[in-house]
Amino acid sequence: MKVYLDAVSTTSVDPQVLETYQKLLNEYYCNSDALYDDGVAIYDMQEKARALICKMLGVRKDELIFTSGASEANSLAIKGLALKHRDKKHLITSIYEHSSVHNGFKQLEEDFGFEVTYLEPDEEGHITPEAVKNALRNDTLLVSIMQVNNEIGAVNDIEAIAKIVKKHPGTYFHCDMTQGLGKLDLDLSNIDMASFSAHKIHGLKGSGALMKKEFVQLMPIISGGQQEYSIRGGTSNSLVNIVLARTLRIALENKEKYHDYLMELHDQLHDGLKDIVKINYDKGLITLMNIDTPIPSEVLLNALNERGIMVSSKSTCGSRKNEINRTLHYMGYDEDHAIRISFDYTNTEEEIDYFIKNLKEILDQYA
Ligand code: PMP
Repeated sequence: MKVYLDAVSTTSVDPQVLETYQKLLNEYYCNSDALYDDGVAIYDMQEKARALICKMLGVRKDELIFTSGASEANSLAIKGLALKHRDKKHLITSIYEHSSVHNGFKQLEEDFGFEVTYLEPDEEGHITPEAVKNALRNDTLLVSIMQVNNEIGAVNDIEAIAKIVKKHPGTYFHCDMTQGLGKLDLDLSNIDMASFSAHKIHGLKGSGALMKKEFVQLMPIISGGQQEYSIRGGTSNSLVNIVLARTLRIALENKEKYHDYLMELHDQLHDGLKDIVKINYDKGLITLMNIDTPIPSEVLLNALNERGIMVSSKSTCGSRKNEINRTLHYMGYDEDHAIRISFDYTNTEEEIDYFIKNLKEILDQYA
């Protein structure tokens, strides 16, 4: 039996998304910027998809830039804004952002002379609105705080943070919403920029978007032609962009449809684990749990892998790096013994049982 419990890392492609993509691939291949009919047809479909996505996100129909995923969206938002407005030197982020945010800030600090404040999570795992308020300065250009932390599932009060930043003239707010999309309610009214990724919501890999309000000026990070309002160059990945509209629609429909089912899986997992391991964090996203066991993470991952169970010990983007795990480190958890379990509506009760049973057996053998 194969059991995939790493939905935070990526998800399987929804059959409807796959079918739509395959159909489009069979029919269309022209460049969406070509001026003959077939090119224009693809361009029109892409712009229709952009408008539909914007409608679902509750923003204007031209406030979306298609990207290759959330890493690119984060890089464009953060570096694009900072490099465009070099008169302001202060930036605020949190210490537990995804590497595509964290390393962007490091680069701005080390190579471009910006000053960065890295906020630490409180005991509950949150970056508080008060912490953001206290860190703001007259020369603060940007605040970037993630909606949901991808290691422990902590959910930040983004609306409250966005309201505080909104009141501070000349400061922009960016939010990495990769792990919240399709799981939490969306309110982008006070958010200037937000990053999204398709493969976390049963879409295609290499697909994502940056929501950017009309008044936000960015320096292009990928130089090129007229594509994406001249902010993101390169021949458009039009069919993938078109399919993103369908992906998002399905994800938003499924958010309501599967909420109770996911809560049942959560409770089953929690009940099965609470007496056999230490639960590090289970106060945020219901589909993510971070646990600590007496077995070193790597040993446990391998033992579970041998039984067909896929979980991870930290963000997959850093899985081959030997750096400290910033989230677990600042939360005071044992980095060498932590395991992240995450699931979605494609998982079953039987799979959760299988995981718990096998984990118990491995723990017993190790004791
Ligand atoms: N931000 C967060 C919070 C993530 O979890 C991830 C994926 N691990 C990313 C950004 C990067 O997304 P992508 O793979 O689309 O570049």
